[in-house]
Amino acid sequence: MQHPFHTARIMPVQKEAYQHKNIELAVLRLDELHPVISGNKWYKLKAYLAHAAQQQKKAVLTFGGAYSNHIVATAAACAMYGFQSIGIIRGEAPNVLSPTLLDAQQYGMHLHFISREAYRAKWIPPEVYGPFKKWEIYEIGEGGYGAKGAEGSMDILKSLPAESYTHIIAAVGTGTMLAGLVKAAAKHQQVIGISVLKNNFSVQEAIQKLIAASTKKFQIVHDYHFGGYAKHTPELLQFMSDWYHGTGIPIDFVYTAKTFYAAELLIQKDFFKPGSSLLLIHSGGLQGNRSLPPGALPF
Ligand SMILES: *Cc1c(COP(=O)(O)O)cnc(C)c1O
Repeated sequence: MQHPFHTARIMPVQKEAYQHKNIELAVLRLDELHPVISGNKWYKLKAYLAHAAQQQKKAVLTFGGAYSNHIVATAAACAMYGFQSIGIIRGEAPNVLSPTLLDAQQYGMHLHFISREAYRAKWIPPEVYGPFKKWEIYEIGEGGYGAKGAEGSMDILKSLPAESYTHIIAAVGTGTMLAGLVKAAAKHQQVIGISVLKNNFSVQEAIQKLIAASTKKFQIVHDYHFGGYAKHTPELLQFMSDWYHGTGIPIDFVYTAKTFYAAELLIQKDFFKPGSSLLLIHSGGLQGNRSLPPGALPF
């Protein structure tokens, strides 16, 4: 596989509703970075893969669901960097693989399905070790949570003219990306995370742990999960459609739609002082829209 990484661009978005409140808004298009290893996932993976190479590991093992952005990104990145990849997938093996898992398999990932209970316990089936010695396998936690993921995510803001923004707004799953953004943000910038899980209040501490020594401040907003992780409502899908028609930017329903929707609502509610300028992180994940019924979205 080739390395067709593009540089991400910042796209200003103009809407009357923002102008009315004297707010500037722009989107960092990480979704355009790579056709498969989309958005924040490459940033999260690269430090882990460098570590795995250093330790002369042969395979990378990680966990995820049937539509996981992390699973398909790991499979593609491993193919690119010469690792075997192993995916431990939540739930019994289906008769028909999801498009995400078919892609992962095409990149050479060995898929192992385990029950939801076993998954919760992060159980690794013994047959995984058949073709490998135990020490040859490098394990990456679910969703790439960890210090190396945060370290890699700091690069999202590097080499960008991002200094002028007063606020950086991004989706929060494990919080790994957000920790990197907080670490990399300038003193005058406020980082706001939109949690896409329901009542996942412990993520605050999980992020703090990754930021470690520094005392940098950030804020997590918990009101825009739309029912929980990977849940959606007609209102959210309508927002995605309207957002696409207004800006030309496709977004995903699991992370970026909830984040951008939250940003709009927060603008409406005067959360930001007039004169603020917001940088929204488009963290990718568009492949996950394939779990929606055909025709649900205009793109
Ligand atoms: C994985 C993912 C996130 C969440 O990243 P965390 O580091 O787990 O918080 C956000 N957006 C998209 C599109 C993702 O795929």
